[in-house]
Amino acid sequence: MKFIHETLPQRVVFAPGEAPSAVAAEVGALGGAKVMLIASEQEAALADPIAAAVPVALRHEDVVMHVPVEVAARARQAAASCGADVIVTVGGGSTTGLGKAVALTTGLPVVAVPTTYAGSEATDVWGLTEGETKRTGADPKVLPRSIVYDAHLLTTLPGELTVSSGLNALAHCVDSMWGPRADPIDRVLAQEGIHGLAAGLPQVAGDSASIEGIEKTLYGAYLAAVAFASAGSGLHHKICHVLGGMFNLPHAQTHAVVLPYVLAFNAPYAPEAESRIAHAFGSATAREGLAALRDALGAPRALRDYGMPADGIAKAVGPILKAVPAGNPAPVTQADITALLQAAWSGEEPA
Ligand code: NAD
Repeated sequence: MKFIHETLPQRVVFAPGEAPSAVAAEVGALGGAKVMLIASEQEAALADPIAAAVPVALRHEDVVMHVPVEVAARARQAAASCGADVIVTVGGGSTTGLGKAVALTTGLPVVAVPTTYAGSEATDVWGLTEGETKRTGADPKVLPRSIVYDAHLLTTLPGELTVSSGLNALAHCVDSMWGPRADPIDRVLAQEGIHGLAAGLPQVAGDSASIEGIEKTLYGAYLAAVAFASAGSGLHHKICHVLGGMFNLPHAQTHAVVLPYVLAFNAPYAPEAESRIAHAFGSATAREGLAALRDALGAPRALRDYGMPADGIAKAVGPILKAVPAGNPAPVTQADITALLQAAWSGEEPA
């Protein structure tokens, strides 16, 4: 066995019901005296108790999904104007992403308080969108110094978002099995992540206030992101990035729809991944486990329901083919991607 695994340096605090004091402790440890608190308007009520516990210099609400470059520029300007020395983000992946965009150019430390299962808080990956194109990169500066997970902040997450965001986390696990840098440690983390998500998500879907269900799901989502940061984007994420940027599709729902098609495509060529995923689900095969979970959750089924035009299939095939990661388990042809997109667009059973 020969591999190199890099563990990213980060504090992780699970503090159910205690986000304000836990965030104050993390900000204090960083010597923060002027906090720029980023939370969108919809996330403001979740952020209020945290804002009351830390020295806030500025609250910034100008958050847009996929971090358009002009939104990042305004946030960087705001950070400079208020003399911020720490950034606290309270919100989903879009809010975390904006904090990372500020950290990328300023080097300011970030304390992330996630309110969805996106997992951006545990990766050193940033994303910025210019026009139709989303650029991503990895930089140690954008890795939040601390994460504070407070399950109580996710009781307000609407059911549909719980499902799609949780399946987005599951997609991190599945892609971590065969991403370009996937190693044995990533596969173990991803397997345990799937186990947590498969146990927690049905609980939360049935009762949005289930703290136990949310905690299991957050634990799974965190492991998913750690594995994914190490393994790198596999075929699934490459497909979703192209589609998201090209057609402005909602991030989590796109992942939730596309995942079973990529699993069905790669699994026959990736027996170890297939067996680990099946084991994590406690099912006979990986595909059966995912299908049962998706049925239980009433998962999103078709890209056409989220605004992808039918003629978008032909437009997306070329860019996806260019982005296929070297070492993807299954060989990938233009016909394969066309068939996969056609099926995911219409929501037919994965072949
Ligand atoms: P999001 O952050 O856009 O949130 C979706 C909606 O849910 C928003 O309207 C938000 O206000 C609302 N919301 C968030 N938390 C809530 C709560 N607890 N209660 C009620 N409403 C709540 O969506 P997302 O799926 O969390 O994140 C998507 C973004 O994150 C994408 O841009 C994606 O590229 C990025 N992302 C990045 C990484 C990375 O490693 N860099 C990883 C995953 C996702």
